[in-house]
Amino acid sequence: MTRNRILIIEDNLLNLELATDLLEANGFVVSSAQTAEEGLRLAREILPDLVLMDFGLPGMDGLGAAKDLKANPATRHLAVVGLTAHAMKGDEEIALNAGCDGYLTKPIDTRTFIGTITHFIASADSRQTINKPL
Ligand code: MN
Repeated sequence: MTRNRILIIEDNLLNLELATDLLEANGFVVSSAQTAEEGLRLAREILPDLVLMDFGLPGMDGLGAAKDLKANPATRHLAVVGLTAHAMKGDEEIALNAGCDGYLTKPIDTRTFIGTITHFIASADSRQTINKPL
């Protein structure tokens, strides 16, 4: 069984460490970047199964980076899950409009985090199967 690869793009080091620890403890292979620019470079290079994308990043923000991934034929199939500090009404719409497959609010809920990530990977996999040319 191949292990799922996750790319985390997050500039908050505590949050990055928590997400990394949870994912690695559950068998995921984790790569990370602290800026959108570095994250996009890594996404194109490693083509992870899922990108966990903080919205608030220095330089290009996470929404811009999500749009970039979805606009590029080489990366548009990647599952992208936004990570936002605000649980504000309208956040989900903003995330989905940017091309995210879903979003999570911070702080990360350690009880549901892995289940949610697994769910988004499975959804992206089934979408790819459906979209596969005959
Ligand atoms: Mn941030």
